[in-house]
Amino acid sequence: MVASTSPITHQIESPFDNGEEGREIKHLENLTRADLASTWFDRSFASNRPHSCPAHLQLKRHAMPEAGLFFAFYLRKTTSTHRETASVHVRSAIPQAETAMNLNAHLGRRAFFRRAVGAGLALTAAGHGHAQRSAIERTWPAPVTGLRPVPALQPMEATADRIIAMNVCTRPFRAKGPRIELESFGRKQVVHHYGHGGSGWSLAWGSAAEALALVETTGRREIAVIGCGAIGLTTAVAAQRAGYAVTIYSRELPPDVQSSNATGVWSPESRICTEEHAPAFADRWERMTRRSHWQHQHLLGLPGHPVEHQDIYQLSDIPFGGPPRIRYPDEPSYPRLGRERTPDLEPTPVELDADQNPFKVPFARRTSLLLFNISSYTQLLLNEFTRLGGQLKIRELDGPGDFSKLRERTLVNCTGYGARQLLGDDSLVPVRGQTAKLIPQPEVSYGIRYWDANVYAYPRRDGILVQSGADGDFGNASEALDPQESLTAVARLNAVMQGLQTD
Ligand SMILES: Cc1cc2nc3c(=O)[nH]c(=O)nc-3n(C[C@H](O)[C@H](O)[C@H](O)COP(=O)(O)OP(=O)(O)OC[C@H]3O[C@@H](n4cnc5c(N)ncnc54)[C@H](O)[C@@H]3O)c2cc1C
Repeated sequence: MVASTSPITHQIESPFDNGEEGREIKHLENLTRADLASTWFDRSFASNRPHSCPAHLQLKRHAMPEAGLFFAFYLRKTTSTHRETASVHVRSAIPQAETAMNLNAHLGRRAFFRRAVGAGLALTAAGHGHAQRSAIERTWPAPVTGLRPVPALQPMEATADRIIAMNVCTRPFRAKGPRIELESFGRKQVVHHYGHGGSGWSLAWGSAAEALALVETTGRREIAVIGCGAIGLTTAVAAQRAGYAVTIYSRELPPDVQSSNATGVWSPESRICTEEHAPAFADRWERMTRRSHWQHQHLLGLPGHPVEHQDIYQLSDIPFGGPPRIRYPDEPSYPRLGRERTPDLEPTPVELDADQNPFKVPFARRTSLLLFNISSYTQLLLNEFTRLGGQLKIRELDGPGDFSKLRERTLVNCTGYGARQLLGDDSLVPVRGQTAKLIPQPEVSYGIRYWDANVYAYPRRDGILVQSGADGDFGNASEALDPQESLTAVARLNAVMQGLQTD
């Protein structure tokens, strides 16, 4: 059974259905969590009901297959202040791990539901009342001010002699979004699962759930996954957790896959589709993003820090909040899906006053970013795969004809950009990217994003990842290193660090 798509039964009690006080019980069947969420909240908060009516909602999840998790939302309104407040109680049904969270927040915007559910599922740590309230209230990217002083920042040592690696990889971009489709090749059923652009690590869990829903329709419990990058490996582990016996067939294994050379940050909308195709893809994208984000929360705090939060300083020569700026005119327009669909998943940026800003850059704001330490994350996935009995076989497939040579009847094709050659699929467009890695500095616990200077740096455990965007990356499948590109990026970072106030 695939958790994210399984039917569930819910009971809803809402005393203000149709804007009237009273009590209504609805039984909703065959809804996914996302369906349930939007149904109730659309009806409740999207309807601009009068502010005088109290609200009370109880949701009970009777069948949640993935972890026995259920949650209840109690919403109430304080009529004296004419502002609705919500208490969100999240309770885990996992024995010994029961947690509860109370959260008072102002309500009243149309998108409350998505924020509340996102916050309820993502912000499981109690005791951060203020931060939780901000996550629900804000209209992204409206900044807040003054929440936490800026700590003294240790400078990144950004000099050429500290570069320990330069890497190139190819983003497998598709204008329509990833291909997640079932196709028959004779007796083989192949679920294609490739084309995740600049978002493969971010979306892997949610995308795996979409692919496994198709696998389930084939009725087979023994499956082959072709490819062992972020998508293949995550899909394989997700399949095992759902009870499948899995063999991975792959031409290369980590760290010799493209995924091992990614930057490693939460970037679920990065080159994931074009603006033109966004309307058709947005619902699936939102499901994938929410599912992945939820899954990543459960990888925080583990040994080796496969996933962690780090402060990121966004630096700018001009005030924040202006229209989006375009660096690469040769690339298509990309949609701002996060802003439209999942604003609750992004921590609220905090704008720094001039006297708080330690950078010699006119404008700075701080936010927090999920960072993937790709080496330990990959190791964690490989360990789980083998622990759950998975088989790994080095094998290259030369074309669709080779599908018939595999023992399994159901195959999941996670070959990334390799699918272009394997299937002759020219909907896959290569988007080249190059990173440099500096010697790790454990004392550095922040990253920077400085659009105007075209430099980005992230403090991974295995080194500080430094990146610049380059012209001509779109459509470029070259894996040849351009050392000058990385030297320039490091020099730009050095210039920023020279202006850093360290006390
Ligand atoms: C510079 C850069 C930075 C990035 N940063 C981020 C980031 O910060 N966050 C994020 O979420 N994403 C990021 N990405 C995107 C992410 O790296 C990709 O979306 C992801 O790597 C795609 O994973 P994949 O498993 O589909 O492909 P791959 O990693 O390429 O894996 C494909 C697998 O298929 C196998 N294979 C291919 N062809 C065959 C064949 N014919 N027969 C058998 N096996 C085959 C390969 O050996 C490999 O194991 C970045 C990408 C780049 C280039």
